Amino acid sequence: MVPKSSPTASSTGKPLISEKAERFTESVIRDMTRQAHLYGAINLAQGFPDFPAPKEIKRAAQEAIAADINQYAITWGAKSLRQAITVKMKEWQGLRIDPEAEITVCCGSTEAMIASLLAITNAGDEIVVFEPFYENYGPDAILSGARPRFVTLHPPAKPEGEWCFDERELRAAFGPHTKAIILNTPNNPTGKVFTRAELEFVRDLCLEFGALAITDEIYEHILYDEAEHISIATLDGMRERTITINGMSKTYSVTGWRVGWAVASPALTSAIRKVHDFLTVGAPAPLQEAGATALSLPHTYYDALAAAYRARRDRLLPALRQAGFKTFVPSGAYYIMADIDEFGFADDVSFAQHLVKEIGVASVPGSSFYSRPELGAHQVRFAFCKTDATLDEAARRLLRLKKT
Ligand code: GLN
Repeated sequence: MVPKSSPTASSTGKPLISEKAERFTESVIRDMTRQAHLYGAINLAQGFPDFPAPKEIKRAAQEAIAADINQYAITWGAKSLRQAITVKMKEWQGLRIDPEAEITVCCGSTEAMIASLLAITNAGDEIVVFEPFYENYGPDAILSGARPRFVTLHPPAKPEGEWCFDERELRAAFGPHTKAIILNTPNNPTGKVFTRAELEFVRDLCLEFGALAITDEIYEHILYDEAEHISIATLDGMRERTITINGMSKTYSVTGWRVGWAVASPALTSAIRKVHDFLTVGAPAPLQEAGATALSLPHTYYDALAAAYRARRDRLLPALRQAGFKTFVPSGAYYIMADIDEFGFADDVSFAQHLVKEIGVASVPGSSFYSRPELGAHQVRFAFCKTDATLDEAARRLLRLKKT
């Protein structure tokens, strides 16, 4: 994360930009979307669907606005949505959550993560983060004043293998200053779904070092090939030590609505609620009402969602292979990490630039998911939350790579 510009100084020489803000760049994911617009490229960079959101959810939002649910909701979330989150977590995770004391609805899971970190960290605290990681976690750690300790998820030797951490490396990252570990399962960008045994290993370390787990489970319903989503909060000893983050964006294809939430014990929740309140006051009220409708959809909705994503994954994978990429097959979420060694570029950034400008497909350079850019220098990420037409056009364009 090398800053793009030097500090802007006032006429007295006083820096106008905070040291924190100087320490990270703009999001590469969002920048690639802007580049896709600029060059007319197919956007397989930023992970948002280019197909419509479900009709019943859109109708619920329209009705909520028409019914004049247009003023602030309760700062920590509309009662109807918190109630629906409680019912859904009981049904899917078997967890009993108190909607009055254990849920904070935020402006997307992005805000839920930063509000949680701001609520729990002090200067000098360390946060363990697996890398590659979803880009936001790096700046989140800096903004909250915590020191990230990165643990590598090693890519599999074979395409169907799993990205794995080394238990000794993970243990070595924990110490007396460890405040929390950030988990993301199913994982962005690798598609890894953490197994029960892996989560138990993480749990044991959390208990031994008195650390919390902050788990981002936004892709919980996007699973392939019998992969099972396990929430670490359900493991013995973790209910009180876990902040579970989720949201509407991915499950209901409404990434622009910005409705997410953090679920945690009453003590943790009261701190998260205070931070959230002063950051944003609240998430959009009518969209929270629609959220209550969304979370009450029948199981068939989730089955269809996973099946549709499986078909999209299986459409893009062979296209990438045909174009010359070595691919890692995701077990969950909607991204494919691909190895670009075949193409002989200096690094992932120059390859991604060539891809967006000359080939007409936007991807995300792998280095933006790592603390040490060299670890991602041979990788790019493709998002496949797109229509068949988009994926097919991307496939057609990617074949041009062979000719360059
Ligand atoms: N989670 C999505 C991604 O990784 C979208 C990120 C964002 O821009 N909020 O692409």
